[in-house]
Amino acid sequence: MNPLSLEQPWGRGFSARQSHAFVDGGEFPQLAGTLLPRGLGRSYGDVCVNDGGTLLHTFRRDRLLAFDPSTGVLTCEAGAALADIAQTVLPHGWFLPVVPGTRYVTVGGAIANDVHGKNHHMRGTFGRAVRRVTLRRSDTGIQSLGATDPMFAHTVAGLGLTGLIEDATVQLDRVPGPGIEQDTLLFGGNKSGGGIDDYLALDAESKSWNYTVGWIDTMDRNLRGVFFRGKHCDGPKEWLAPSAPKLALPLDAPQWLRGRWSARALNATYFRVQSTNTASRATIPLWQFFFPLDAVTAWNRAYGKRGFIQYQFVVPNDAARETVPRILAHLRESNVASYLAVIKTFGEIHSPGLLSFPMPGTTVALDVPAPSDADRRALDRADAMVADVGGRVYPAKDARMSTSMFQRFFPQWREHEAARDPAISSSFWRRVALANT
Ligand SMILES: Cc1cc2nc3c(=O)[nH]c(=O)nc-3n(C[C@H](O)[C@H](O)[C@H](O)COP(=O)(O)OP(=O)(O)OC[C@H]3O[C@@H](n4cnc5c(N)ncnc54)[C@H](O)[C@@H]3O)c2cc1C
Repeated sequence: MNPLSLEQPWGRGFSARQSHAFVDGGEFPQLAGTLLPRGLGRSYGDVCVNDGGTLLHTFRRDRLLAFDPSTGVLTCEAGAALADIAQTVLPHGWFLPVVPGTRYVTVGGAIANDVHGKNHHMRGTFGRAVRRVTLRRSDTGIQSLGATDPMFAHTVAGLGLTGLIEDATVQLDRVPGPGIEQDTLLFGGNKSGGGIDDYLALDAESKSWNYTVGWIDTMDRNLRGVFFRGKHCDGPKEWLAPSAPKLALPLDAPQWLRGRWSARALNATYFRVQSTNTASRATIPLWQFFFPLDAVTAWNRAYGKRGFIQYQFVVPNDAARETVPRILAHLRESNVASYLAVIKTFGEIHSPGLLSFPMPGTTVALDVPAPSDADRRALDRADAMVADVGGRVYPAKDARMSTSMFQRFFPQWREHEAARDPAISSSFWRRVALANT
């Protein structure tokens, strides 16, 4: 076994000592200490971290095993990246049913966090499109799980804890080509607190669009923002593949860039640039629509050595109008600087995972660079506001929520603990579930 080495997760806010092994498709690895499957490590916090244990890397197990271009049913190894799948199936008129904001995610990671995308109101989560998974456990060996198997509901959004997903069968979506017809609309910004009403109205009138998402200026008390909606369309052949990243960040950004005033300036600049495109309609490559951050390699270095936290919460529909502005006002008044906040209203489609994050309601995701102790206390208070209205915080992005909050957000965690593979554990699970058992 390799010696422990010190590494940072995607959010870079902390380090962990872990050793590494590669999954070879044979027996379940017999290694001392705890193990944790790992995809491409794009989870921001510690769901993909195993401090003091071993990561079982899956990214070399990335073969596409079967694809039927007449039905769009794909079977692949769990280490296959969404980027590679999309590039293979697009020329045949198919696309992934759900994609997160980066294409550098494995199928295993997409299942284990039951990821959502801009089409949640139409498609639900990634797990909804999964027809079958092959799971290898240290205690019971290999199992083929269909959507009605109880272990399927533990494995989708299972945070990698139920065993190693070896392969999966996924139903893809038919698309007319590699383009997206995109509308860009401004909202809010002219009356006190009106932004949330404008956002909710735009979202309500855009339900027939495949994809909807908003960007909000959290530093602006009126919650102005930019609303994007898109639908699939055809485009030139060159759009079938993504263009190479335009920029790589070779260095960490200096710490002075972090802070309330730079956050305000950045948000204001973004809003001004978008203002020139009011109500514009454009046809763009789908890569650009779904994965704008992938254009910058290692963009997480933009937050400097002390990294950042991404905070993503969801609150039910009946609470969204009051609670979203209240939480954002609380963070603003607590001087928590945020550069980028994304808002999305989830639909009613039920998520198949026992611990799935999405619920019908509105979700907001924001980056908090180099969080101070005061920022963390403000986020703890925000957690309580989310819990009070029956919402939750997203484990895939988390590195800080308390044990008690996690157990309020996900009271079903005990059932999940009973389904855990005894050889597997993660830093996240030890922090939020096992800390007080
Ligand atoms: C720029 C950016 C944008 C993002 N946007 C979104 C978004 O819009 N929506 C969203 O939902 N998420 C989003 N995410 C989060 C990301 O989609 C998830 O964290 C995803 O799970 C990462 O996949 P990964 O392959 O990197 O897995 P990792 O981060 O390496 O692992 C994630 C989890 O999956 C488990 N796992 C991985 N492979 C296997 C396997 N073979 N068997 C069993 N368990 C396994 C791990 O143990 C871990 O618990 C975003 C992340 C980034 C960096």
